[in-house]
Amino acid sequence: MTEPATLTGVTRPAAKAKNDLAATRLAREWQTMTVMVRIYCRDRHHTVGGVCAECEQFLNYAIGRLERCHFGLEKPTCAKCPVHCYQRERREQVRTIMINAGPRMLWEHPLMSLRHWMDGLRKAPAR
Ligand code: SF4
Ligand SMILES: [Zn+2]
Repeated sequence: MTEPATLTGVTRPAAKAKNDLAATRLAREWQTMTVMVRIYCRDRHHTVGGVCAECEQFLNYAIGRLERCHFGLEKPTCAKCPVHCYQRERREQVRTIMINAGPRMLWEHPLMSLRHWMDGLRKAPAR
């Protein structure tokens, strides 16, 4: 069981720092996912600026999963998740997106790719 971030309404500095770090990691994961879908949509669906309806649906699905993730702030990256809560078709979809956009991502956003890779080293907490 994870420790609550607040005690009598006051956030303790160590817990706050830990939560801020985790929230930053989640925001980073979401940003990486969005950028990858944009690259994929641009290259495969020839979309200019933004994403097509199909990719937008996928992003809506992915953010919904992220918001309901039962690991909470302690979550691993979805790619390294031992549970993987995505429906089978969505899982296939994300795999296709990663395979196609991954190499471009590395080339176009090397720093973001490196950070995502480092975030991926984190293990899921024991349930
Ligand atoms: S795939 Fe795993 S880490 Fe990602 S949202 Fe689902 S349960 Fe959480
Ligand atoms: Zn698209």
